[in-house]
Amino acid sequence: MTLEGSNLDSEAMAMARPRSRRAFLRTASLIATAPMLAEAQRALAAPTAAGTSVDAARMRSLADWTALSFDTPHPTVYGAAIFDTTSGEELMRALNAVGAQHDPSAHGEIVTIRLACAKLEKPSLKGYTLYTTCEPCPMCMACCLWAGLDRVVYGATIDDAAKFGNQIMIYSADVKAHWKGACVVDGPVDRERCAALFSDPKLLAARAKRKAS
Ligand SMILES: [Zn+2]
Repeated sequence: MTLEGSNLDSEAMAMARPRSRRAFLRTASLIATAPMLAEAQRALAAPTAAGTSVDAARMRSLADWTALSFDTPHPTVYGAAIFDTTSGEELMRALNAVGAQHDPSAHGEIVTIRLACAKLEKPSLKGYTLYTTCEPCPMCMACCLWAGLDRVVYGATIDDAAKFGNQIMIYSADVKAHWKGACVVDGPVDRERCAALFSDPKLLAARAKRKAS
């Protein structure tokens, strides 16, 4: 899927929301291309009740917050946030800390899950949803599953991230497919904004400055 494809997702989902499945499909069959219809069907089939607009707002906030790191000694494009699935209350948000903590496992999702579990004083995040600016790598997705998260929502895709650095090319949905427990993986949400973090001029300038020092 191209980055432009995310616009199609949003449009298809926006169209799908206020209508019944039958009404939408009747309309869509007249005006939509096959990919658009497929996306709409996927959106309708999603078992969660969370609104796309809520996901988009949370992802936008997370992406903007993550970009604030570009002005710090440890700029990163990877941020994650955990919300109570029912109440919508935010429990925790954190950034990738691989460089800051000299820890290759300190990806944004892992750091956020660790902090959230420490706050709750238990190893389970059942009842919570995690948002991440980039599709979880296999390590992080496995941690999401072990934590018992209800849902994982990502912004940029692993394919997007792979354009800017090495990635383990196993998609989060494929990791989930090997798990018998319940966890919904949704994405991409606000993909263009999250993918744009990787080539943000402020990030590139910060990295160039670090290299030069
Ligand atoms: Zn990861």
